[in-house]
Amino acid sequence: MSAHATLDDATEADLEGLETLVRLLAGRGVVVLSGAGLSTESGIPDYRGATGSRRRRAPMTYQEFTGGEEARRRYWARSHTGWRTIAGAEPNAGHRVVERLRRSGHVAAVITQNVDGLHRAAGTRAAVELHGGLHRVVCLECGRTSAREELDGRLEELNPGFRAAGAEVRPDGDAELPQELVDAFRVAPCGACGGVLKPDVVFFGESVPKPRVERCFGLVDAGQALVVLGSSLTVMSGLRFVRHAARAGTPVAIVNQGRTRGDDLAAARIDLPLGAVLTEAAHRVG
Ligand SMILES: [Zn+2]
Repeated sequence: MSAHATLDDATEADLEGLETLVRLLAGRGVVVLSGAGLSTESGIPDYRGATGSRRRRAPMTYQEFTGGEEARRRYWARSHTGWRTIAGAEPNAGHRVVERLRRSGHVAAVITQNVDGLHRAAGTRAAVELHGGLHRVVCLECGRTSAREELDGRLEELNPGFRAAGAEVRPDGDAELPQELVDAFRVAPCGACGGVLKPDVVFFGESVPKPRVERCFGLVDAGQALVVLGSSLTVMSGLRFVRHAARAGTPVAIVNQGRTRGDDLAAARIDLPLGAVLTEAAHRVG
């Protein structure tokens, strides 16, 4: 089995971590906090993780996006190119195991930092998308939300033949494009009021809506343990839940390739590929 082949590389610390993870899952009521590392095995690159060589350009901030038409043209041109990769991605073994553990009661709730919708695609409909989802678009003027697929059709009509094959795509659905292509891109306004459309995701420089944060704190408080899957916890929006759990004496386990900002707060730390670890943990939990 390939899972065992990968776990053969496990260090003593990894194996101890795995035992703790299994014990926490067996205790039931685990809250999962997932990040980009969970989706790399679905072909969505993790620009902050171990394979972080792609961090070539800082992501667009909320201030840039709302500040000018040119920034928005650049955003939508790249995002339009990258959307097929996001829309075509499928849940991997990690997403599927999380859903299986949820159905068996070992996992009580899932909070994700990912905007790719892959937990939902794996059947975890109640997953809280902390940073929103790329599958929805919101109008900054009238507040109307609509499906990204609908906008995609309109952008396709406005920009026939635009999509460059093989462009480098990032986890936020962004892609690298030459400037002349960006300059020629035509952006679609809100179909209802003509206002500015934004993907329904939390940009850098933007806050996660308060009610959503409160809901996540509530889930963490109600949980028996917090298990981080595939996040280096670089941004505070995720790290605060780890700190919150640790302060409350709730055990934290972290499965991530590479160091994380929550390592010193974790009772268990596993530095191995997620799919293999989760498959093995679920197998042991039974
Ligand atoms: Zn509108």
